[in-house]
Amino acid sequence: MGTSYTVKVSRLPEGIDGARLGEKISAVLEQINAQMSTYLADSELSRINRNPSTDWQPVSRPLYRVLLEAQRISRLTGGAFDITVGPLVNLWGFGPAAMQFEPPAEDLIEEQLNLVGYRHLQLREEPVSVRKAIAGLYLDLSALAKGYAVDQVAELLEQQGITDYMVELGGEIRLRGSNLSGKPWRIAVEKPTPEKRMIQRVLSITDVAMATSGDYRNFFEFDGRRFSHTIDPRTGRPIEHRLASVTILRQTSMEADALATAMMVLGPEQGYQLAEKEKIAALFIIKDADGFVEKSTSAFQQYLR
Ligand code: ADP
Ligand code: MG
Repeated sequence: MGTSYTVKVSRLPEGIDGARLGEKISAVLEQINAQMSTYLADSELSRINRNPSTDWQPVSRPLYRVLLEAQRISRLTGGAFDITVGPLVNLWGFGPAAMQFEPPAEDLIEEQLNLVGYRHLQLREEPVSVRKAIAGLYLDLSALAKGYAVDQVAELLEQQGITDYMVELGGEIRLRGSNLSGKPWRIAVEKPTPEKRMIQRVLSITDVAMATSGDYRNFFEFDGRRFSHTIDPRTGRPIEHRLASVTILRQTSMEADALATAMMVLGPEQGYQLAEKEKIAALFIIKDADGFVEKSTSAFQQYLR
């Protein structure tokens, strides 16, 4: 997944060996990579992406679950979240190929936009399979696969009887129980600035997952403008508004991860309205003339104590 991970366990149940547990965790992550990575040419997802067939293709149950959740978030957000945005992610230089540092030509954007649209992806439960309605459809799960991976590691820990843990992978976090001092976990929300790592605020939270998306880590600058890796599927271009980051608190890490990216696309007004309506706990950090302002939803207030 091109990133690092941390697992903290405050109390190991008797008979559970830390080193052995570490091996099991990396096996879980390797399997998810083999199913869902666009960076591995022979992953299950890469094989589907390369297959020009518009017939039904069998998929593994785990990949199916992630695709199903992606499609649900697409419908919820009116297509702001869309895993078929992959060709544009690649065109703008944020995909598996080497990064490039200038915007692509207009006609190329138009061309790739023809391949985008979550409705071109069909899912079927019995037997679990997917169908690309257009041959060139290309799926990119980078916006929620890390969250899914965090959930799977959390599930492994639960199976081992572990009830006090923090799982973090590429910034996606899931928490349960208490830390070493017997208190809720303390997790920082970063100040959304690329220059150096600073803290915006610290949350004391547990039994919840947290995800942040922002425009301040993965981007390039050209002609004094910042082009971030979040693409608006409606325009084929990186988002352009004053929203610097969104932090979501939700029961699962996969949903938090996807929603954070979705809110980043929708922006500070539309995103906020949807989050309010859906009772989603969200903290928006918005750029203004002299720094940042925060805007949080009603559902977020319970975490601000
Ligand atoms: P990160 O991967 O840095 O944690 P996100 O979870 O926000 O950040 O995912 C961003 C990635 O999602 C991009 O690099 C791209 O691969 C993909 N992506 C970009 N725009 C969209 C979108 N509108 N819908 C779904 N996925 C997207
Ligand atoms: Mg995301």
